[in-house]
Parts: sequence; structure tokens; C-alpha cells
Amino acid sequence: MKNKLSTGATIGILGGGQLGRMMALAAHRLGLNTHIYCQDQNSPAFAVTPHKTVAPYEDLAALTRFAEQVDCVTYEFENVPAQTAAAITEAGTNLFPSAKALEISQDRLVEKRFISTVGINVAPFAKVDNQLELEAAAQKIGLPAVLKTRRFGYDGKGQVILKTADDVKTAFNAIGAQPAILEGFVPFDKEISVIIARDQAGHVAAYDPAENVHENHILKTSTVPGNISAELGEAAKTIASQLIIALDYIGVMGVEFFVVPDADGDKLIVNEIAPRVHNSGHWTEAACVVDQFEQHIRAVAGWDLGSAERHNDAVMENLIGDEIVEGMATTESNAQVHNYGKAEIRPGRKMGHINRIFPKNRP
Ligand code: AMP
Repeated sequence: MKNKLSTGATIGILGGGQLGRMMALAAHRLGLNTHIYCQDQNSPAFAVTPHKTVAPYEDLAALTRFAEQVDCVTYEFENVPAQTAAAITEAGTNLFPSAKALEISQDRLVEKRFISTVGINVAPFAKVDNQLELEAAAQKIGLPAVLKTRRFGYDGKGQVILKTADDVKTAFNAIGAQPAILEGFVPFDKEISVIIARDQAGHVAAYDPAENVHENHILKTSTVPGNISAELGEAAKTIASQLIIALDYIGVMGVEFFVVPDADGDKLIVNEIAPRVHNSGHWTEAACVVDQFEQHIRAVAGWDLGSAERHNDAVMENLIGDEIVEGMATTESNAQVHNYGKAEIRPGRKMGHINRIFPKNRP
């Protein structure tokens, strides 16, 4: 399984969005090449490498050709179909993180079961495949609760909050009558995330937790350090390492937590894991010597991880839709702007971000 790449080797990346683009930029800085595979002709990642395949993720012949042209494959999104992952490994090419990480993170039920097995707190949950199961689950878990599709939910899509008995009657149809889970509503007062990496020798490096604020279900800002105690921050990093080790994972992973106030102090509940570089880790570009993108490339390339130490405090702000226009004009001396180069501005579309850095440990 050891897979140490040399200068000039090529990493294949499934997915051509901004995350693929930023991974490719990091790889090229380290003297590695990238080959991006994406079904969308206009993918922002295509601008940063000459090697690309434009084909559907179901095109097994194109996937095999792609796998044969690269030295290992990674991905920028968790919904890589199982057969796509299988086509890569069947062609004899290593896939990092492994297909197991995809299987677990693609299905909220499998994910919640896995996290509980590791002994880590998640919201109470139950499988819901039909209306009867929803009624039983609502009885068991109580209201309020959140009904979520097992697959393909992101940014709040495919989920509804149930507050009343009437909601229990309509919610299953409201999410399209698909396999789902019901989760107890978590009365959190903050959301935080830990970006963590593991290399092929098993070393782990965790970045400091970011406190995340969402607007219209989309991440708006990540602030580091978050407004949490040092102990809670360390506890979040420990949980993230337990998960990454239990998954035997290689690469960068995002772990999202709810912080729940409790009489004995704040408590952590894991919401989900993302088997990829993560939007709430973009601050690492400006506040760490080795950012999450380089860290991921190092891990999949079979290199040692770099330091995840933070040299500054930071606030990352996503530029959504036409905010990119104003963001690009900033002349603030502490601000680093990143533009994903997307051809078309659309409402709700992530177009870029700004990292603002501050002296560490400011009062
Ligand atoms: P998710 O798609 O699971 O990341 O959920 C999107 C957002 O919905 C989260 O960032 C939370 O703000 C909210 N949310 C999800 N699950 C719960 C829950 N069980 N209790 C309260 N809020 C939740």
C-alpha cells in the first residue's frame, strides 16, 4: 500500500470544483502533477492543470484510462459513486482516502453507527424507511427532531425539522419519501470543526478547531480560535484522531461538531465527517505554514505530514454569489483573497473566500 511519489509523479483528482483546484495548486507547488477528472466541461480546477478528463463518473472505460495515467487517485467530494471508486482500484491504482471512507460518509445511518461504535457521542438517531418507521422513531427520540435523507444531503438540503405531530405526518413525503434517519434536535450553541490529517505511516496532525457560522445553510465564516475553552478544543482534536485512526484513513478529513452547553461544562457531539479537504479549513492557507491542501497532497503522495501548527489567529469568510466582486477589491493589509475563477456568478454559489489574519492570542 506504501505509495511514495517522486517529483513529476501525477495525482489524479476526482472532481473539478474549488477544492480540487486548491489541491491541484498545492500539488504543483510541491513538484507533483495533477490530472483532474470531472464531468463538467467548465470545472474551475481545469484552469490549473493541462491534464484533464471530461467524462461522467459512471464511464468505466474513461475511469480506467484515467487510473492508468496517474500514480494515485484522490477526490474532492464524498459522493464519489462506489463503482467509480472500484474502477480505480481495479485498474491497480491506489485510492486515498479509501473506498471505506466514502461508504461511511455517504450514508448518514452508516456514518452515525460507525461514530457510535468508536464510542463517540452523536445525536440520538433511528433508521426511517417509511411513514410507520418515522412514527416509531419520533416516539422513541421525541420532538423536536430532524429528518434527513440518508444520502446526498448537503448545506441543509434533504432535511426538515419536526416540531409537532402534524410535522411527523408530512415530513417523510417532504424529503421525497426516501431512506432517511431521524435525529434528535441538538440544542447546540456553537458549531465547530476540526481538520485532521493522517499519513501512510500512521502519523496524525490536527489543526486547531474553527468555530463556524452558517447563513442560509451555507458556511459563512470560520474563526480560529473559536470561542471555546482550550480543554474543549483539545477534546475535539482527540475525538477527530480517534475517528481518523478507526477509519485507517489516509489524507485530510473534516469533522463537524455541535457544542452543547451542559451543567458540567460544554459537551461535544459529532454531526458528520467529510472525507476530504473542507471549507472550514480554508483559514489554514493564511495561518499555518502547511495548509490543509498541502497536508492532503503530502498524505496521498506517501510523504510525511507537515506541521499543523497555527502561527496566527484567522477568520475565513466565504464570498458567496456577487460578494466576490466586492471581496476582490479589498486592500486590507491582513487579508488574503482567493478567487476560484468560476465563469458565472450565481446566487448561493461559493465563488471565493477571504482569509483575514490577526496576531495570535489577541485579547
Ligand atoms: P448537516 O447537513 O447534517 O451538516 O446539517 C446542516 C445544518 O443543520 C447543521 O450545520 C446544523 O446547523 C443543522 N443541524 C443538523 N442536524 C441537526 C440536529 N440534529 N440538531 C440541530 N441542528 C441540526
